[in-house]
Amino acid sequence: MENSKQYCRKVSFADERSANEYINKLKSTSERVNVPVRAYLCPRCFSWHLTSQKTKEVQIFESKVEELQKIIKDQKRIILDLNTQNKKKDLRIAALKKHISSIQKYQETLKVFDKADKR
Ligand SMILES: [Zn+2]
Repeated sequence: MENSKQYCRKVSFADERSANEYINKLKSTSERVNVPVRAYLCPRCFSWHLTSQKTKEVQIFESKVEELQKIIKDQKRIILDLNTQNKKKDLRIAALKKHISSIQKYQETLKVFDKADKR
């Protein structure tokens, strides 16, 4: 065991619980960027070490989350563009309605003149 202990230069913990307690303590006090995120049982010295490497599952999960966040961001941009287009269309519709009502008024006026001519 002495040889393997020399081989492992990492800080060792006797059990998972004390390793995790140390991680939690570091999380709340350390200002380091690379804070250990989990403990693992070392196959060489059979004590617990800390690592800042996430498990494969966590890495895959995080990349999926990142991918989904990009999709959400794109969708939000599309919605924003559609809202802008809708506002422009609303303005165009309002302008057309105004135009139509002025044409209708003009037609009414023409009818009045038409009736006056027939008399
Ligand atoms: Zn070890």
